[in-house]
Amino acid sequence: MSTGTASSPSASTSKEFNPFEAMAERFNVAADHLGLDQGLRDVLRTPDRELTVAIPIKMDDGTMRVFTGYRVQHNFSRGPCKGGIRFAPDVNLDEVRALAAWMTWKCAVVDLPFGGGKGGVICNPAELSQGELERITRRYTSGILDILGPDRDVPAPDVNTNEQTMAWLMDTYSMHVRRTTTAVVTGKPIALGGSKGRTEATGRGVMITAREALKKLGMRQEGTTVVVQGSGNVGGIGARLMQAQGHRILSISDMFGAIHNENGLDMPDVLAYLKANKKLNGYPKAKAITPAQQLEIPCDVLVPAATENQITSANAAKVRAKVIVEGANGPTTAEADKILEKNGILVVPDILANAGGVTVSYFEWVQDRAGFFWTEEEVNTRLEQIMVDSFKSVDAMATQHKTSMRIGAYIVAVGRVAAVYKLRGTYA
Ligand code: GLU
Repeated sequence: MSTGTASSPSASTSKEFNPFEAMAERFNVAADHLGLDQGLRDVLRTPDRELTVAIPIKMDDGTMRVFTGYRVQHNFSRGPCKGGIRFAPDVNLDEVRALAAWMTWKCAVVDLPFGGGKGGVICNPAELSQGELERITRRYTSGILDILGPDRDVPAPDVNTNEQTMAWLMDTYSMHVRRTTTAVVTGKPIALGGSKGRTEATGRGVMITAREALKKLGMRQEGTTVVVQGSGNVGGIGARLMQAQGHRILSISDMFGAIHNENGLDMPDVLAYLKANKKLNGYPKAKAITPAQQLEIPCDVLVPAATENQITSANAAKVRAKVIVEGANGPTTAEADKILEKNGILVVPDILANAGGVTVSYFEWVQDRAGFFWTEEEVNTRLEQIMVDSFKSVDAMATQHKTSMRIGAYIVAVGRVAAVYKLRGTYA
């Protein structure tokens, strides 16, 4: 779980902070580069299917509460929909829609045979017992069951969900269809058909793309300074792997605040402290700073790995990093992109930088369907190859179109989905 907030936009309905608008703005620029006609743009922008379900739950104290859940399938031209499920109090349909579309583009950037989907349940896991979380997960799964399946839609963990959530989902689905169906979900425990290397995969992808970005800029790897927003599955593991690579982690944050040590943090020690104390605040070998101060630390690499809308028109000019590697989905607004580009900051976009997770989810799905499991080394070698190849394709596309890596990634992704759509044609 990692939901650090450096800027909490008060006007969250305004255009800059609407994640679907943020996605659409980049999509439109890519569509212009690709010369897509209006009809195809409308097809590719519009989600294929959206489901909202009521989740009535008997709480531990005997009262009833009704939660709301969503599953959006943005596009399944290239294969089954793929994407996580998040549990959060402020989740909404527009956000899930944007995240589903980002999954379509993300899967296409790394060339996986998947479309994009995303799910969300409005709830605050911090206030719920394990039993309540299990009942919510099972009832939500049964609500969306008709549109799930290994060939239809394959969920995974996201913010505030984990391998236990996926185990409950897999069990609920399997009980309904009357056979154990491991490939209906990824990010499961290894004992239930999960893949080796899946837990670290998103952080590993961030580490690999950061390394490639530094190479591209001709910068050294050893001693490179890094600031990480978020300390969960992406930020925490990413920081640990980047430190092991020789980088110096100056600062890391969680949802309560950030810590800073100019000489570098010992990540295994920080993560052990976080595990024991549930928050970074109080960590003895660093000083406490605010999330806003954290984003202004001069560094080589800044990794926003928490949530959306963190680098905005209000704080982008204060960012002192040379490279931003987006571990989170949508951490930078389209307005902020313009400021960062003007200031010469290289942004490795989310749909490339954090695609390591879904890539190993694909490996997990392949292994489940084959009933044959790979070693961790095989998983990591294949992940490395896909991430490096994808970085190169995006970089080459950006150079060819004289544009940013963000737009380069969208051109690669939208171009691939558009090509498949044209080949398949419109069913009528
Ligand atoms: N939730 C992750 C993401 O945003 C992983 C999705 C998946 O593995 O399907 O990429």
